[in-house]
Amino acid sequence: AVGVLGMNLRSYIRDIADFPTPGILFRDITPLLSDASALKYAVDRMLELCEPLSSDVIVSVEARGFLLAAPLAYRMGKPLVPVRKQGKLPYKTHRVSYQLEYGTDTLEIHRDGIGEGQRALIVDDLLATGGTVGATAELIRECGAQVAGYAFLIELAELNGRQSLCGEEVVSLITYD
Ligand code: AMP
Repeated sequence: AVGVLGMNLRSYIRDIADFPTPGILFRDITPLLSDASALKYAVDRMLELCEPLSSDVIVSVEARGFLLAAPLAYRMGKPLVPVRKQGKLPYKTHRVSYQLEYGTDTLEIHRDGIGEGQRALIVDDLLATGGTVGATAELIRECGAQVAGYAFLIELAELNGRQSLCGEEVVSLITYD
């Protein structure tokens, strides 16, 4: 994780045990967000990793994903399309439900968010099981568009999310084994 500028991004991620529920080790990105040079470095490095994936549009999932996707979309000069939890988007939506550890969750995208045949880069703060971005990929295909790849600040390798996202390229800046 030490890049050309010698910045160790991992030291800006704070581990919180048993949040939000017992047994979860939460990777808190707020120390990175609140350090201007760490944030700039992270966005610039993500930009470098994303450029070869040749996308037309950035798609991101609420809420922490937006914090990285917006500066990336701005720097890339590409449009940004939000995916949100059920009931938050005001216009007509496509909807998909997906499995959580306990129960299910539902995500939505605006029907006119992405054009047919466009290539969408999916951005989120963290890849765990891959359920969230897998559901996001379904929404993109529902719009008649394609997934160009996936980009994350953090990847939890032991949960094998990468393997569940068969086919497209997955890039991440910080990996925990
Ligand atoms: P998953 O769908 O299992 O890949 O989970 C990814 C989503 O849950 C991301 O949007 C993360 O923000 C959040 N998430 C899952 N596990 C963690 C964790 N250990 N620390 C922080 N966020 C997490």
